[in-house]
Amino acid sequence: MPKKYHIEVHPTPNRFPRIGRSGIVDWGEGCLKCAKCVKTQCIYGVYEKRSFSTDIFGDTIDELCKSCFRCVQGCPKRLIHKTINPEWEALGDELYTPEVISANWEQAETGKIPVSGAGYGGPFCGAGFDSMWTDMSEIVRPTRDGIHGREYISTLVDLGRRPPYLILGQGGSVASEPLPRVRIPLPVVFDLLPFGDLSPNVWEAIASAAARLQTMAVMPWNQAARLGQYSEYLAPFVGKEIPEELPLSGFRMIEIEDHEAAKATLEKVKAQQPDLVVSVRMAASSDPSDINRIVELHSFGYDVIHYAAQDSGYEQPGFQGAHLKDMIRQAHAGLLQHAVRDEIALLASGGIAMAEHVIKAMLCGANAVGVDVPLLMAMGCRVCRECVEGRTCPVSIGTISPPWGVRRIINLMGAWHNQFLEMMGAMGIREARRLTGEQGRVMFFEDLERDTFAQLFSGS
Ligand code: SF4
Ligand code: SF4
Repeated sequence: MPKKYHIEVHPTPNRFPRIGRSGIVDWGEGCLKCAKCVKTQCIYGVYEKRSFSTDIFGDTIDELCKSCFRCVQGCPKRLIHKTINPEWEALGDELYTPEVISANWEQAETGKIPVSGAGYGGPFCGAGFDSMWTDMSEIVRPTRDGIHGREYISTLVDLGRRPPYLILGQGGSVASEPLPRVRIPLPVVFDLLPFGDLSPNVWEAIASAAARLQTMAVMPWNQAARLGQYSEYLAPFVGKEIPEELPLSGFRMIEIEDHEAAKATLEKVKAQQPDLVVSVRMAASSDPSDINRIVELHSFGYDVIHYAAQDSGYEQPGFQGAHLKDMIRQAHAGLLQHAVRDEIALLASGGIAMAEHVIKAMLCGANAVGVDVPLLMAMGCRVCRECVEGRTCPVSIGTISPPWGVRRIINLMGAWHNQFLEMMGAMGIREARRLTGEQGRVMFFEDLERDTFAQLFSGS
């Protein structure tokens, strides 16, 4: 059995106090001055440890409090209350909600899967990936202990084309020429960042984390050229042409933007370095002609089709507002109809905010998934988009130290990897490559709604 892929995590504190979900409101008026005040009974020592932070110009109690409600319930005069922090409620947007941001911060800090308490109080359906329910009917087999212990569940995937058939030589040996391929132990590729105070330190942290995790990072070609020590794990994004200043040697993968002369650009690259895995980045849309373009790019010889939605998870403006999951499903079905699905590596990205989104995107039909904003969140990003408006980043992302950023990204991926194992174990799938297009193991809310109610309300 091959050696198990394991991600070593190390607790790495935030640089700035985390914006907590709730705040303590502590009234002094009416206090009985009990001999044994509940504040001295806090098992986390919150009231002793609280201080004034010059980073946030405020009390650190909300950062320290674990919300156990012991002091709230214990005060005989009911002078201690907890309230939802309005600053926390204002974090992020519809996709990167306060809950998603907090959960990613916590994973980047601890490397552990966040535990949100008993039961789930939220809705069972929502937009995008929230309208998918995975079939967890195998949840008792293998056991949870087995997932992290005896059982072998592989999260390895390949980036590259596959031949439609093998040519066998004398004695049954494989005579087909091997096609260029990059094998990664996680179905996650670090993608270009859609916003942020993107200093060289940020890119260095991402490059070094990709190397430590043995996955790939797509990054602007000038940063990839600068970070030559990690070149094996970097895929320079070059736009439409290969810059003369970029030597291709040392890289295993490169990414080109889809354009009219994409065939000629590929031919130039392959003439220079035939064994390079060449990915083409194509804007995902609900336009059915996307399928023909993917097939055409494949016929040119591209090794990976990077099908990229916006960072919101939706298609570019000017289309119908389709979500990435629906665009992957459409592309997957179209490629099956063209009988080329197994030959093409489809890397999907845009709007991947949580570990479960990776698995769900693969179930829809992706071979691997690109991750962007969560890398920023690992480095403390609040998804406030001040940087997009040209204003100062409240957490000075650009000033991180690369080793700190590396630990945070590795922690996040360590927690995500464990969630991949949990989901795959519960689905009885031991091979991440088998997730691709396994739509029989998913229920889509839209399908259920149509099957259940269409006849009732269609008027027929
Ligand atoms: S709610 Fe719990 S953790 Fe928070 S201050 Fe009170 S006793 Fe401490
Ligand atoms: S915290 Fe805000 S300003 Fe800083 S990188 Fe994130 S979105 Fe941009």
